[in-house]
Amino acid sequence: MQLAEQRDEVIAFARRMIDDGLVVGTSGNVSVRSGELIAVTPSGVDYDRLRPEDVPVVDLAGAVVDGALKPTSELPMHLAAYRDHEAGAVVHTHSLHATALSLLRDEVPAVHYQLADFGGPVRVADYATFGTDALAASVSAALRDRTGGILRNHGTITIADTLAKAYGRAAQLEWICRLWLTAAQVGEPRLLPDGELERCAPLFRTYGQQPR
Ligand code: 13P
Ligand code: ZN
Repeated sequence: MQLAEQRDEVIAFARRMIDDGLVVGTSGNVSVRSGELIAVTPSGVDYDRLRPEDVPVVDLAGAVVDGALKPTSELPMHLAAYRDHEAGAVVHTHSLHATALSLLRDEVPAVHYQLADFGGPVRVADYATFGTDALAASVSAALRDRTGGILRNHGTITIADTLAKAYGRAAQLEWICRLWLTAAQVGEPRLLPDGELERCAPLFRTYGQQPR
C-alpha cells in the first residue's frame, strides 16, 4: 500500500478535528504530502469508520493513484497549497470562532503574539463556493506569505511542513479568534503594540526544543 504511514496520520488527525470540536460530521479535510504523492481524506465519509486503505492517494495533479474512494471536494484548494505555497501538509476546518470572525472582519486583529507563527495578520479569503477552483484561487491568494487563512463564511486553512504542525496551527487559529470574539462581546479589544508580531516572528523559529 502506498503512503501507509501518511494514511494512518490522515485518519488520526481527521478524527482529532472531531474530538477537538474543530468540525462537525464529515466537514473539513486534511492531507499530507510525501514526495510526488498526497494522502487526503475522502469526501463525505465519517472519520470514525475510515480505514487506511480507504484514504485516497493522489498525485500533484489530483489524479487518484490508490484507494477506492473519491478524494475531498476541496482537492483543488489542497493542490493549490502544495503548488503555490510549498506546503507539506494541509488542514481545513470549519471551526466556529474563526468562521464567525470571517463574517465580521477582513483579517484577524493582532490580539495575541501566537499570530506571529502565521507569518503576519491572518487574512480572510474572498467567498467562493466550496470545492471550486475559484475558492482554491481566493484561498491561495490569502495564504501569500502566511501559514494560515480563513475562508469567508466557511472555515479555516492551515499549512506546515508536517500534519501535526498544520493541525496545531488550526487549533491555535481557532483559539485566537475565540479570544478576539470573547473580548469583543464586552468592548473594543486592545491590540498588540505596533511591530510586536514582527518582533515575535523570529522567536517562533527557535521556540521549544531544538536539536542539539
Ligand atoms: P469533503 O467531505 O468533500 O471533504 O467536504 C467537506 C468540506 O469541508 C468542504 O468544504
Ligand atoms: Zn469546508
